[in-house]
Amino acid sequence: MKIICIGRNYADHALELKNTLPDEPLYFLKPDTAILKEKDFYYPNFTQDLHFECEIVVKIDRVGKNIDVKFAHKYYSEISLGIDFTARDLQQKCKEKGLPWEKAKAFDHSAPISSKWLKIKEIDFNSIEFSLIQNGILRQRGFSRDMIFSIDQIIAYVSKFITLKTGDLIYLGTPAGVGPVGIGDCLQGFLNGEEMFSFFVK
Ligand code: MG
Repeated sequence: MKIICIGRNYADHALELKNTLPDEPLYFLKPDTAILKEKDFYYPNFTQDLHFECEIVVKIDRVGKNIDVKFAHKYYSEISLGIDFTARDLQQKCKEKGLPWEKAKAFDHSAPISSKWLKIKEIDFNSIEFSLIQNGILRQRGFSRDMIFSIDQIIAYVSKFITLKTGDLIYLGTPAGVGPVGIGDCLQGFLNGEEMFSFFVK
């Protein structure tokens, strides 16, 4: 499986990092070794500025290529919540040099994910509220309706370039409020008020 991450999909987050708004989805990949299923996270020694980015995650459940936007809804049925950990110091250096972001984004355990999945048919996707709590303090609160590109638009766009396979995950981008984590921190993610994950940084 592969992990596809969407960047700059919430205007307030794009602007907090002084990025312009995209006119088409921006995506990058993480390898399967990025997954971390509700275990404690060990702070990597190659960064001094690791940031959380809490994101809704959609799971692909059919193989597809060149998917038309009007059929994209047939390719997923469940969503969850995860974190797109980012070594912001490394990413900044990559951005300044015009280099790819993999070093800053695609390292082992950079994609924590909840073990809970919600059936999309049983919720109103457009009214999802999600949040990231760090040591008991609310850091990020996002609303699915604020996504610049919808799940269907993202699936249609990405599948022009990459075949989507069963089990692939798409991290749908993060709202404003990203910030640094430190050793000892407790990170909790909530979706519509339900705790989706809780783990420590060690
Ligand atoms: Mg992100």
